[in-house]
Amino acid sequence: MSTPSIQPPSTYEPLNENTVVQFVKKLNYFTEDAALQVREIGDGNLNLVFHIVDESHAKSIIVKQALPYAKVVGESWPLTLERARFESSYLQKAAEYVPNLVPKVHYYDESLGLFVMDDLSSHLILRKGTIEGIQYPHLARDIGTFVAKVTFYTSDFYLHPFEKKQLVKQFINPELCKITEDLVFTDPFFDHETNDFPTEIREAVEQLWNDSELRHEVAKLKFQFLTQAEALLHGDLHTGSIFVTPESTKVIDPEFSFFGPIGFDLGQFFANIILSYLSQEAHILSSKERKQYQSYLVDTLKQTWSSFKQEFSKLWENEGNEVYTQVPGTLESFLGKVWVDAVGFAGCEVIRRTIGLAHVADLDTIQDLTQQYQLKEKALELGTYFIKNRTQITNMEQLIQVFYQE
Ligand code: ADP
Ligand code: MG
Repeated sequence: MSTPSIQPPSTYEPLNENTVVQFVKKLNYFTEDAALQVREIGDGNLNLVFHIVDESHAKSIIVKQALPYAKVVGESWPLTLERARFESSYLQKAAEYVPNLVPKVHYYDESLGLFVMDDLSSHLILRKGTIEGIQYPHLARDIGTFVAKVTFYTSDFYLHPFEKKQLVKQFINPELCKITEDLVFTDPFFDHETNDFPTEIREAVEQLWNDSELRHEVAKLKFQFLTQAEALLHGDLHTGSIFVTPESTKVIDPEFSFFGPIGFDLGQFFANIILSYLSQEAHILSSKERKQYQSYLVDTLKQTWSSFKQEFSKLWENEGNEVYTQVPGTLESFLGKVWVDAVGFAGCEVIRRTIGLAHVADLDTIQDLTQQYQLKEKALELGTYFIKNRTQITNMEQLIQVFYQE
């Protein structure tokens, strides 16, 4: 089947620093006479992000606009403007359950493919924070709670089946899902042109391509991603999609949101924390400080999972509407499934961030190339191990034992 061609609506135009000001003025957020300063700050791959400030009144706002193509690849890769709807709808849905963990959405404009949200410039992107070795004491509890609440309240355990299916319909997101299907689950496991890795690690990559057991397991995980509409997922919950201060956590950028297996969001988060763990070998030179920070990252993994489990179990027991939530053992069996999925999805994410199209700065900024390549090979090994052994790795302690050196 050929890909349908996507035409932006005729009223669409990508805004620039002048037109975005004219647009914002119409929303009556700033006073008529405000002297607005504007800057396009998007470091992302897909969208324009405008930061608009009225300094004299200490007010600011963010306008995020989808481009009709993926910026990273150029105009040759068309991409639906509807992703602004997925992103703003997800943020609004999440705000019903975890208002303190997402930016507030103030406005959505369908024809321009944009939405307006709180300015979070006082926060730092978590990936930058972890590369700098900063600790965030609330992060794990916040992310565990975030995933538990958003997924539980959008699952069949809580919603009436009619309401659930209505919501599934709103979040059918084929184009963005296709990117994940290709870039996370397919391309890295084949000799595909989107892959990106240095020739120095080609042998390790070829080993992965020739590993038929691995490919069979990835096939199962991909099929789960394609078919299991358990709950509303963020869909791209890596450390670049989380804004932090030591006191506050805000999840951003859910344009990949859709109904999928709950372990996917957790797995992506785990994988990115594990990539940070590996890369600290190069970022923190003092072995004492490095070990301290790595042990903080390991605690983050443990606490995220335990907070998720605790919060999800509490909601299940107190607010479960599906009749089987009352049957002893059902919760444990479901959480067991989420865990195994999370380990498998984490494995896929570790691999694709190492040799796929979209890398992580944690590894790519390592100046000593010999060390960078060694760590990349280690990441491939770990990812492969997680995927193949996910049913044997029965708890977080065991997962951590695979890479943790005390
Ligand atoms: P993309 O979907 O294109 O990857 P992101 O949502 O990740 O875009 O945003 C790109 C960058 O823009 C972020 O890394 C951050 O620096 C900035 N940004 C995005 N949203 C906000 C916000 N609400 N407040 C402040 N800065 C933001
Ligand atoms: Mg994005």
